Amino acid sequence: MLFPPASCPRLVVKVGSALIVDGDGGVRRPWLAGLVRDIAARVGAGQQVAVVSSGAIALGARRLGLAKGGRASLDDAQAAAATGQIALAGVWAGLLEAEGLVAAQMLVTLDDLEDRRRYLNASATLARLMALRAVPVVNENDSVATAEIRFGDNDRLAARVAQAAGARGVVLLSDVDGLYDRNPAAPGATHIARIQRIDAVAHMADTASASGMGSGGMVSKIAAARIATAAGIDLAISSGRVDRPLSGDHRHSLFAAEDREVSARKAWLGGGLTTKGAIHVDAGAAGALAKGGSLLAAGAVRVEGKFGRGDVVAVEGPFGIIARGLAEYDAADAAALVGRRSDEHAAILGYAPRTALVHRSHLVML
Ligand code: GLU
Repeated sequence: MLFPPASCPRLVVKVGSALIVDGDGGVRRPWLAGLVRDIAARVGAGQQVAVVSSGAIALGARRLGLAKGGRASLDDAQAAAATGQIALAGVWAGLLEAEGLVAAQMLVTLDDLEDRRRYLNASATLARLMALRAVPVVNENDSVATAEIRFGDNDRLAARVAQAAGARGVVLLSDVDGLYDRNPAAPGATHIARIQRIDAVAHMADTASASGMGSGGMVSKIAAARIATAAGIDLAISSGRVDRPLSGDHRHSLFAAEDREVSARKAWLGGGLTTKGAIHVDAGAAGALAKGGSLLAAGAVRVEGKFGRGDVVAVEGPFGIIARGLAEYDAADAAALVGRRSDEHAAILGYAPRTALVHRSHLVML
């Protein structure tokens, strides 16, 4: 596979549940062993590789005898994940060891990567592990993450992990070999090899996961592609329904990175999935932001939610969310300044004001 994600110095490979677990809930060992041989060859050639592995819930459900693949309720999914994860870790550790590699497990929740400090910790751990030639095997910490805060799919998790790992490429190994202009099973469906503008293809995605095992489907893959490409990372969707999926040139869809020079901080900000609140702005302010300006209080019309200074907030224009940024004030102080000119701020607040509600260096347009 010679396409850019596979040939970059640091790569994240995401493996979907249906590739790891067969229809009876058993591990697809021979296939995984082939993938691990590919990973070993890449590490041997100097590429640093991290794996994002699904499959905990599917594996655990079988062991606990749970219906609906362990996804009938959140409690079931969490119990299945806890049971399956320990088995999954054992499978990866054994297979990697057989190839002379050291496995390292990292379980992360959405919150871990949304909180700047914890994100930087995860980032440092990933970098250290890969520098030591260990292979991080990452999954969502499903047994503690709750419905509202969990990633819910490992596609977006893989894109966030790639950011945290400073990777330039992500390969999502899936049960499909890429994006089609309609349901791949429909007559006349055409494979799309290279995607430059995600907005032009977003409507083609189907929400359902083809295997019914994972939670992804093409929608989450496109969401992952948005996070990755905006952060300067190429992302490919490629089939895992072949032996040795990382060797040779296999059919895939490539989402090419928009701008390689996005700062790491802005990439983290733009790729986030949650916000603590929102600042609504008028059309004039929305235009100023699009030209690279800061969000000034005078252009704000309303503040929503409970956020503290330094929290991530959405910026909403008249037609929806236009940016994400770090708040310079907590929600109450920001609300007090809404619509007010800068020369009034000190008197309103009773302390020396900052220059903006969100400074342009902490703002990312979406
Ligand atoms: N983290 C889940 C698991 O290990 C999979 C999420 C997904 O389907 O992408 O089972």
